Amino acid sequence: FFFSRGQSSALRDEYYGGLLAGGFDDGGFCLSRNQSAMLRKPSPYKPSTYLVKMLRRYEDRHRRCGPHTASYNKTTEFLKSRGAAARSAEMECKYVIWTPLAGLGNRILSLSSTFLYAVLTGRVLLIDRGKDFSSLMCEPFPGTTWLLPRDFPISNMRSFGLGDALSYGSLLRNKRIRNDVVDRPVSGPPPPPFVYVHLVGDYSLQDIFFFCEQDQLALREVPWLLVRSDNYFVPALFLNSIFEPELRFMFHEKEAVFHHLCRYLFHPTNKVWGMVTSYYQTYLAAATERVGIQIRVFDKGEAPFEVVLRQVINCTLQEKLLPWVDQKGAVSEADRRKTKAVLITSLYSGYLEGIQNMYLEHPAAGGMLVSFHQPSHEERQVKDKEDHDMKAWAEMNLLGFADVLITSAQSTFGYIGQALGGVKPWILLRPEKAAVPEPACVRDISMEPCFHSVPHYVCREKKNGDNSKLVPYVTHCKDAPWGIKLV
Ligand code: GDP
Repeated sequence: FFFSRGQSSALRDEYYGGLLAGGFDDGGFCLSRNQSAMLRKPSPYKPSTYLVKMLRRYEDRHRRCGPHTASYNKTTEFLKSRGAAARSAEMECKYVIWTPLAGLGNRILSLSSTFLYAVLTGRVLLIDRGKDFSSLMCEPFPGTTWLLPRDFPISNMRSFGLGDALSYGSLLRNKRIRNDVVDRPVSGPPPPPFVYVHLVGDYSLQDIFFFCEQDQLALREVPWLLVRSDNYFVPALFLNSIFEPELRFMFHEKEAVFHHLCRYLFHPTNKVWGMVTSYYQTYLAAATERVGIQIRVFDKGEAPFEVVLRQVINCTLQEKLLPWVDQKGAVSEADRRKTKAVLITSLYSGYLEGIQNMYLEHPAAGGMLVSFHQPSHEERQVKDKEDHDMKAWAEMNLLGFADVLITSAQSTFGYIGQALGGVKPWILLRPEKAAVPEPACVRDISMEPCFHSVPHYVCREKKNGDNSKLVPYVTHCKDAPWGIKLV
């Protein structure tokens, strides 16, 4: 293992400016935790001292309340005595459980959002590990675990869905929880011990109320929340006036929220990190510039192969991200001081060859050395398959080494790569009716992910409206114009 970016380790900050807790020896169990900061580009965004303080405070809480501690055992008892009032005085620790939904990119987004919610509300985050999550990610919190124990009294986390009797929306509709009494009188209904929070695109108005101030007060005394989401719902937390002042203190640069969350929470396991580092060192490290191109096709009818290929080529040439070809075919000495390594990630083969063919008849102008690499082409998306997910996670990390990124609109896969790298991407707009979009790509306004399933209800105004108009740092997304994002 070596440091390839020409900087000595002394100049590097191993812990991302305090984002990661130092002085923690896990016996080599998670190499990426100590190595990633040395290998990735230094971030232009520094975490605030307040964020660092909140993270250390969270880690302490997690150690104190983690699985099978006395506090955890006590709070789990509330689930057995169903319907019993959980008075806050009896409750040392409160929890939020996350359960996976959709592809890996979506999972990383909803898990980060749920973690930030836990930090803000003094809860402890535990995760339903699914089939293979623990073979992808290391434990993020030193000296404890985030894995929900297998003997947790509720075992069928993934059976919860829209309209479930225990969902926040249903509980509100059935008046089993009240969001209209600010300081719940002692005589009011006791809070249920468990509430399912459905934050998926099909959510009802009452589910959406979860993001509102009154509702957060109502949920304060609920010991167990279960969140199921496929979205990055952090922008909605910023719109909540209870959370907003805290969030402003934590994140001075709004466009770096997910960048910090991602680098803090998601450390590839040794197996995945081995795939990342060996590929990086072999094909990408030596180049003077790395260009990442992530090609995601949602609908082959609207976006056939030839159209997407033309779009990618148009984008790289119009925006001068790849060199033009030397039409005269002038034989110039290759300038070995300038090399570009182009990393292509896609489910499909063909794109690499198509892009590479640009230089088949004519050399790159200026004699630049350009090389193309694609680590895998799985051909189709598979769920919960370990080696498939490992490749996806490794490739998101490899995209994170890019100096320049081109990503497909609306793809959460690309959102993860751009956040890991701290790079604002060029977005390949989604083709419609098999036409090459013009312009082929546009520069994003920030590297934050887009919240796709944006609530149409504006809490502060108590009516439906446009949530992009409330604060200057939440605006509509370029890649999904109906969505909202932090800038
Ligand atoms: P999204 O659907 O583009 O928002 O991204 P997700 O990550 O949520 O889901 C897409 C899934 O398809 C990924 O998790 C992978 O399983 C697979 N996939 C999509 N694109 C790629 C790719 O470029 N490389 C690999 N290895 N897998 C991909």
